Amino acid sequence: MRSAIIEKTAKDLPVAPNWPDSAFAEARFTWQAAASALSGLPGGGLNLAHEAVDRHAAGPRAQHPALRFLERNGSRRELSYLQLSRQTNRFANVLKQLGVAPGERLFVLCNRGLELYLGVLGGLKNGCVVSPLFSAFGPEPLETRLRLGECSVLLTSEALYRKKVAGLRDKLPLLKHVLLYDETGGHARLDGTLDLGDLLAAASEDFAIAATTADTPSLLHFTSGTTGTPKGALHVHGAALTHYITGKYALDLHPDDIYWCSADPGWVTGTSYGILAPLLLGVTSVVDCGDFDAERWYGILEKERITVWYTAPTAIRMLMKAGPELARRHFHPQLRFVASVGEPLNPEAVWWGKEVLGLPIHDNWWQTETGGIMIANIPVMPIKPGSMGKPLPGVEAAIVQHGEDGSLTLLDDEQVGELALKQPWPGMFRTYLGQEERYRRCFVGDWYLSGDLARRDADGYYWFIGRSDDVIKSAGHLIGPFEVESTLMEHSAVAEAAVIGKPDPLLGETVKAFVSLKRGREASEALHDELIGHARKRLGAAVAPKELEFLASLPRTRSGKLMRRLLKARELGLPEGDTSTLENPL
Ligand code: ATP
Ligand code: MG
Repeated sequence: MRSAIIEKTAKDLPVAPNWPDSAFAEARFTWQAAASALSGLPGGGLNLAHEAVDRHAAGPRAQHPALRFLERNGSRRELSYLQLSRQTNRFANVLKQLGVAPGERLFVLCNRGLELYLGVLGGLKNGCVVSPLFSAFGPEPLETRLRLGECSVLLTSEALYRKKVAGLRDKLPLLKHVLLYDETGGHARLDGTLDLGDLLAAASEDFAIAATTADTPSLLHFTSGTTGTPKGALHVHGAALTHYITGKYALDLHPDDIYWCSADPGWVTGTSYGILAPLLLGVTSVVDCGDFDAERWYGILEKERITVWYTAPTAIRMLMKAGPELARRHFHPQLRFVASVGEPLNPEAVWWGKEVLGLPIHDNWWQTETGGIMIANIPVMPIKPGSMGKPLPGVEAAIVQHGEDGSLTLLDDEQVGELALKQPWPGMFRTYLGQEERYRRCFVGDWYLSGDLARRDADGYYWFIGRSDDVIKSAGHLIGPFEVESTLMEHSAVAEAAVIGKPDPLLGETVKAFVSLKRGREASEALHDELIGHARKRLGAAVAPKELEFLASLPRTRSGKLMRRLLKARELGLPEGDTSTLENPL
């Protein structure tokens, strides 16, 4: 029987959780005290790569596997912390010998594989500001980001370079060095580029890390572009503490975990939690170099004996589509914690986890800007399916109303308003590149305004309502698309749903739903009426969609987020705006 709450206590968990109880809003945590978990650079200062790799390489975890690559050809390759330390030192030496100074921008355009890790971690060791990019981007989005980010060094594969970057070289006058590798293991010899293999072979395994501090810029991440043109959020080395603490409490990483983050490194989750957090905690991280395939993914959970898995609603949706039989053919008793981020996680998906995987999915919330997880369902907490959870230790969240006059009111439980976070915290972004004014507008007094609408219930759980741009105002009601979409997804025919507001002279806006169907289900007038009837029964006529259209699939960003603004623009015949992050652009 499905209930409104999935009860849990520490006693139900297979290992003692890092955070022992669900009362974490209390003052038992300070960032200052937490900072003692990091070692700092030998001469003072802080460097993300030192904390993630070298401090383990110099201690008892030196021989512990840091990374386990599942290569596209089916082979596996493991690297210990010591090996990773030496290899990233080589890459840092390559940069140094080329005269790349701390602060210069290194862009990493790589498929998942060793080079990606060498680039990000070696770049951080040399003091570069590193920006990982989606390897699936076409030339245009690449050019925009490389130019805005003032890229001076690019690490990429020969194939990606030929296809996407070679034609842009004239437009990138600041790009001094292109380091190429051949994904099949050969040499990459192309005019105007350097062969990474040659350079690494000649470089030393010893490197003295650049003198970075907690305030030195470290990573440049572009937002997903769900609501408009992607913004370049600049982060600092001090984010190491946020990654460490959230890896420890929100993902509950323990030293012997085998962890898998299935997010692409082209967006912030793939870097913060696919590269840095697991290494900061000294665990073994599985890196799947292949593409999504439901059967193979279940096989990874089983064969690699994954204990903690961090994924996204879009991947869960694809697994749900593949059907429960496939899941039940795989056995993964060691899997103890599954978390998801990036989009609202429909209650349906939380329950699917419990019923099909044997574990409920734990939703958590954060943004490119926050640098790390802020609100989460941690292992010890009862889950309220559909809620993002509670603010983590060290995070003070509030629901606020921001007046035109610059005033800010903190709202009570159950009131809908903008989700805000008390600043500062160690992982927060330090600017939007080239948009200082826009950055400043995100802050009012002590608070950072997220642009997301939410409410908090009397138990302190936060519920996502929608992005402020997506929320619908109809006949005086504030309608969050997520609630309507979740209700439509409860219907057995519906695979995906997206809801927008359409201008209406009488009501302000009316609700229109777009729906894609599960395999084997056909669109028909009868199903159309049935879905509208289902939504009316659950939500009431004022909130249920007035119109409903079937689509083969819904437009999503490459990180799997629904682009409601695109559906709206298409519906209203308006310009589509920035579609650089659209998946499978038509
Ligand atoms: P852009 O800012 O360019 O429009 P984006 O906001 O999608 O893109 P990200 O920083 O990758 O870029 O995504 C953060 C956003 O994703 C959050 O502000 C929120 O709207 C959404 N999000 C993330 N996690 C959750 C979650 N658990 N539940 C609901 N929404 C989430
Ligand atoms: Mg955003």
